[in-house]
This record gives sequence, C-alpha cells and structure tokens, in this order.
Amino acid sequence: MERESVVIIGGGLAAIRTAAALRHAGHQGVITVVSQESSPPYDRPPLSKELLTREQPAWLSEELGITVETVADHVFRGTTAQTIVPITTRDTSPATSPTQHTDATDRWAVTTNTGHVITATHCVIATGSTPTVPNGWENVHTMRTLDDAERLRSAITNASADLQVSNSHHIATNAPSQGASIVIIGAGWIGLELAGHLTHHGHQVTVLESGPSPLWRQLGPTVGQRIGALHPDVTLQCNTIVTSVNKQPATTRTCVTYTQAGTTNTVTADVVITAVGVRPATHWLATPPEGSSPVITREDGLLTTTPTGAVHQHGHTLAGLYAVGDCAIRYDNTWGDIMPGHWNIALTDPERIAHDVLGIAQPASTTPHVFSTQGAHHVDVFGVPHLANEVIFREISPTSWLAAWLSPNGAATALMIVNSPRDTSAARRIFRNGPISIDPRAFADPTIPLKNVALTNDKGVSALAHRAETPLS
Ligand SMILES: Cc1cc2nc3c(=O)[nH]c(=O)nc-3n(C[C@H](O)[C@H](O)[C@H](O)COP(=O)(O)OP(=O)(O)OC[C@H]3O[C@@H](n4cnc5c(N)ncnc54)[C@H](O)[C@@H]3O)c2cc1C
Repeated sequence: MERESVVIIGGGLAAIRTAAALRHAGHQGVITVVSQESSPPYDRPPLSKELLTREQPAWLSEELGITVETVADHVFRGTTAQTIVPITTRDTSPATSPTQHTDATDRWAVTTNTGHVITATHCVIATGSTPTVPNGWENVHTMRTLDDAERLRSAITNASADLQVSNSHHIATNAPSQGASIVIIGAGWIGLELAGHLTHHGHQVTVLESGPSPLWRQLGPTVGQRIGALHPDVTLQCNTIVTSVNKQPATTRTCVTYTQAGTTNTVTADVVITAVGVRPATHWLATPPEGSSPVITREDGLLTTTPTGAVHQHGHTLAGLYAVGDCAIRYDNTWGDIMPGHWNIALTDPERIAHDVLGIAQPASTTPHVFSTQGAHHVDVFGVPHLANEVIFREISPTSWLAAWLSPNGAATALMIVNSPRDTSAARRIFRNGPISIDPRAFADPTIPLKNVALTNDKGVSALAHRAETPLS
C-alpha cells in the first residue's frame, strides 16, 4: 500500500512546524510545502519589537534547529496555492506532480499560480493572515512581513534623517532632536508593541484607537486601560474613528483625519502605520475550479477546526484536510474555542495534526499563551480571557501587576502577568491542566506566592490544606 503524503500550504511557523512534527512523529511519506513568500521561514514577533535594532531576520531554521528542506521533500517558494479540490476517484492527472499517485483513496489536489498540480492524501492549510487596510487609505504602512518591516524601518530612518538636517539649520537654537512623528492606527498587540518600541527610541507616537481602551477586544476595557497607562510617552486617543488617510500634497507627510466625540480632528505625521487587524489568508478557497465546491470559512475568513486540527464545515469533518496557525480557529476539549493570531498556537498545534495523520494518540492539551513586549514592558497571558467574566487584580507596583478572569463558578480562565517574570512560570504551572479555581483573596495579596492561590492542584487535593501548612505572612 502506498504511503500517505502531505501537502502543506504556507511558509511560516505553522507550516515548518507541521512538516517537522510529521517527521518527528514518524511520517515517512512525501511532504510538499507550497510557500508564497520567497524567503525561508522567519519569526514575525521580532519585527515589531526590534524593528529599529535588528535588521537581520530571525530565521526559524536557527530558532527551531531545522530547515524546511531537511523535513520536506519538495519546497516550492514564491508559489501561491490557488485552489484545493478533493479527489474521491482514481487520480489520473498528468505526471507533473511530485507527489502523484494512482491509488483510489481520497486525495486533495492543490493547484498553484506556477501551473503545478500537487496531489496528496492530506492537505494542511497554514496560510496565516494579511493586514487589513481600509479602502482609500493612502501612504500607510502595515506590519506583517520582512518587506513590511524593511519599508517601515527605512521610512522612519529617512524621516529622522530629514529632521536632523532641518535641526542642523537651527543649531543656534540648540533644539533637541525630536525623532519622527508617527501615527499608529489601532491599539491591538502589534500597534502597542510598535508604539512602545518607537517611543523607546525617541520617536513621537500618537495611537488612534476606535474602542474605549487599547486591547479592549482582546482583554476588555478595564485591563486595556491599565495597559495603556504603561505607555505615558505615547499620545493615546481612544474612541476615535479614522475617516481618511491621505498623502499631504508636495510633502512626504501623511494626513490622518478622525472624529472623536463628534469633533473632527486632523493629525499630520512623517509615518502612518495601520494596525487595525488582520484577515485570514483564505479568500482564495472561495473560488474553486468550475464544478467543485469551495472549502467554507467563517464570515471572518477563519477555517473552523476540530481538536485535532481537521477542517470542520456544515457539521462534518473533511477527511484529510487540516488548517493550523493564524488562518484557523481550533476547538479545544479543555479550553473551548482558541482564537488564532498567536505564536504559541502555530508552534504547538501542528503536533495535533501530525498525530492525527499518523493515527497516533493526541498530545496533551497545551495552555494558550500570548506574550508581548512593548518597549520596556513584558506581558504574558495564559488561558482564555472571557470578556464577560469578572477581572481581579494583584498589585505588585504601578507597572507590575497580574489580572485573573474569573468565571461565575469561580474558575480562573485566564491569568495575565505584567512585568513580573517570577510569576510567569508559576502561572504556567497553575494552568497546565486547564481553568482552575483560585482564592480571590489570596490572589489579591502579592505576599502570597502565586503558586499557592490555586484551590486545587493537579492531584485534585485542596490547596487550602496546603496553604494551611504555609505561613501566609
Ligand atoms: C509583527 C508581528 C509580531 C508578532 N508578535 C507576536 C507576539 O509577540 N506574541 C505572539 O504570541 N504572537 C505574535 N505574533 C503572531 C505570530 O507571529 C503568528 O501567530 C504566527 O507567525 C502565525 O504563523 P502562521 O504560520 O500561522 O502564519 P504566517 O507566519 O503568516 O505564515 C503564513 C504563510 O503562508 C503564506 N501564504 C499565504 N497564502 C498562501 C497561499 N495561497 N499559498 C501559499 N502560501 C501562502 C504567507 O505568505 C506566509 O508566509 C506576531 C505577528 C506579527 C506579524
């Protein structure tokens, strides 16, 4: 019997990890990777955190210790997948495919913009997402790829250089260097990371956010306001609706118009960055070849997947089709729906797909984990913050605190750590088996070690008893 084969669409973290996890789990069949980007896989988080200080990409081959070529048989770079079609009868397509077989099992055929037709028993969609740019916005930068980072870095560097020249004409005034003026539209994770990094390097940053606080969609407004307070050097304008972004005639500057509390305002900047969100790179699935059905996504473009990463639509699972990373929402038996957009998911979820392809037991559930570095501040979130839940805080200092999201039954579904590295490993341990009941009074008291606030430990023994043995003061 012929070995199973896998075609992976995408060239980022989720794609390389899927190929590596398949090999690690014992897959011996052919693996083909189709990657739109021409460069080898690189890590995206440093792009926003080290934009001005790191010009060389953080290659995933160095971070993971593998190259795609060592785990995949065929790697098509600079190649875009255009359609995916299930083949349920004997495959008689011409021998242009590196993974062509003629058995009668269900297979998937992927066509590319370069005219290749790649067939395989399993197909993994790992196409990530692309930044949203509202129609008509001119002269705006996005932050997703190496090319985006390169363009943004040179725009900021050029603007700073122009300011130095202009300042040198006014040397008698002894005017201090002001840095470039930068407007960031959107105070989500990436907007705030850029804001923190760029102010840290002396630039003047204004952030325009449509909601009541930074990160309100992800963490709710109460926690979001506290995150905003970590950035006193950023001019933060919330409840703003940007109505236009236009290149200013005869200058290199860009003009942003927005309304706030019924008033229209304008701000002009050397550089404007849009960080208003992303859209899963799944649009191409909607237009299959004539006679075939499309792979269905949610309205927001996400592919819905089961705990193993299999694509699920209209109440049934599509055999042999998987999605992972930023283009997929996965239902987890422990945590429920896990929204994508975070590095850790793209790192760990591929293992589930590999085990499913090989028919071996699923790995243990991993705790969702988001990390973020915003200038000098570091944030970790473990678990899933449910915004309807009560949030309680643990104050360590004005810039160091923890937040816990409590469900009505007292279980903490998420724990956030701001600038407190010693609590990060304790939080990881507390959440290793899923949501857990915590003692709110103990949580609010920073003198009680975080590991002692859980009411049950992994053996199901009451931690209250454990705490009784532990001097609390
Ligand atoms: C600037 C930045 C900073 C970040 N910082 C953090 C952080 O601090 N913490 C955190 O948890 N997460 C962070 N993230 C998110 C994290 O990097 C992503 O969740 C992760 O990279 C997702 O990996 P992926 O492989 O799913 O998608 P991607 O890395 O986007 O890879 C998808 C690949 O598929 C390719 N592709 C798309 N369509 C096609 C097609 N039709 N055919 C072939 N190839 C295609 C794309 O070109 C791309 O190379 C950050 C993201 C960015 C952009």
